[in-house]
Amino acid sequence: MKRMYTKDVPRKAGEKVKVAGWVRSIRDLGRLKFIILADREGKIQITARKEECDETLMDILDHLTKESVIVVEGRIELNKQAPGGREILPEKVTLLSKAERIPLDVTGRTKADLSTRLDQRVLDLRRPENLAIFKIQSKLVEGMERWLDSNGYLKTFTPCIMANASEGGAEVFPVIYYEREAFLRQDPQLHRQLLMAAGFEKIYDLGPSWRAEKSHTIRHLSEHRGCAVELSFIKDETDTMRVEEEIVISAIKAVKKECKEELELLGKDVKVPKKPFPELRFPKVYDILKKLGKEVEYGGDIDRESETLLWKYVQKKYKSDFFFLNRFPFDIKPFYVMRVDEEPQWARSVDLVFKGIELSSGGQREHRYEKIIHQAKAKNLNLENLKWFTEHFRYGAPPHGGFNLGIERLTMQLLDIPNIREAVLFPRTPERLLP
Ligand code: ATP
Ligand code: MG
Repeated sequence: MKRMYTKDVPRKAGEKVKVAGWVRSIRDLGRLKFIILADREGKIQITARKEECDETLMDILDHLTKESVIVVEGRIELNKQAPGGREILPEKVTLLSKAERIPLDVTGRTKADLSTRLDQRVLDLRRPENLAIFKIQSKLVEGMERWLDSNGYLKTFTPCIMANASEGGAEVFPVIYYEREAFLRQDPQLHRQLLMAAGFEKIYDLGPSWRAEKSHTIRHLSEHRGCAVELSFIKDETDTMRVEEEIVISAIKAVKKECKEELELLGKDVKVPKKPFPELRFPKVYDILKKLGKEVEYGGDIDRESETLLWKYVQKKYKSDFFFLNRFPFDIKPFYVMRVDEEPQWARSVDLVFKGIELSSGGQREHRYEKIIHQAKAKNLNLENLKWFTEHFRYGAPPHGGFNLGIERLTMQLLDIPNIREAVLFPRTPERLLP
């Protein structure tokens, strides 16, 4: 007989079924035994009546431990009190894996702190609320890919090991590459740009990036993933913003429509944002912040508090949890961004902010060789080290732009998860490299 998910067990009395999963709880009333069996898609009650079970079966049931993995074959019986209105009367139970005394309460009734939970992440992930987060994350990515695939974007895989540190020095992890030193990428950015020079026109890359900054914030991981998109023949950075909106909307729509049970379990109601998302531009941002009581140096970067203030401002004014920040000062952005030709202090550099936290950075890139070199010089970069990247812009590169949208950040903000460590399966942080 084929095994089925517990949620698919029909309300058909007498039908024979086979299910498998984890023993979530055991209740022993002497002559009656209730077992809750959980699998990825739900749970079901197994009810064993002593007088109806043979000795071998009873022996297995008597020695069951919580979280052991079993296969149950039996007949369906209707029971209003059981979850889903039906239960299984077991005829055969096979123990596949016996669990020892578990170090973490999988039901979540006994609370454990985050660090203990992350030490026991495998057990922690068995909690339905955690599984729900990752079903939603999977759906978010599916929603993004759906839009990208149906709009002609190629799924690409760019390298993670780099010969040079792409953006800055301190935040990059060195690796031993045969006899040489190499680095883990901080962003797939540069190779995405090269694919534009290669004529790929519209691409995306769903891959990891690494940041060696010793951050201990609720929004930084040492390893994170992004939906990184790049497109050619844009008129300016606003074209990338329009694409980004579509992707975000497609992702959230997919969740809203196809993750109803998960959202209910988490007690969340998500709103599909309206397009276009509001846009705030530098240097006007400084004036807005000043009016909100926050003094930021003209030409300087804005901090977390500013992002939150701007979110509240946008929420009030435009009723939106999303907004773009555009035209960042060139001084605080990497060499490859495109500056506004007539106002070179400002770059066509865009962040997307969701509920006060940065979700992505991107915008239009500089595709004109001379300007790229000029800007790299202005940032005091070693031109020789950058040649592997810059030289390809000598042989024909279209105007292009893109962004990298953090997948854990999107998950975290959408579901109001207080710490990004809970929006990633196995977090990598300065202190944590296990499990
Ligand atoms: P922040 O200012 O919030 O530290 P950043 O500007 O350094 O972010 P970018 O280089 O712009 O980050 O990376 C693009 C996107 O990737 C970010 O907007 C964010 O969604 C995500 N991201 C970047 N760094 C991290 C990190 N350490 N942990 C989790 N997500 C990250
Ligand atoms: Mg950024």
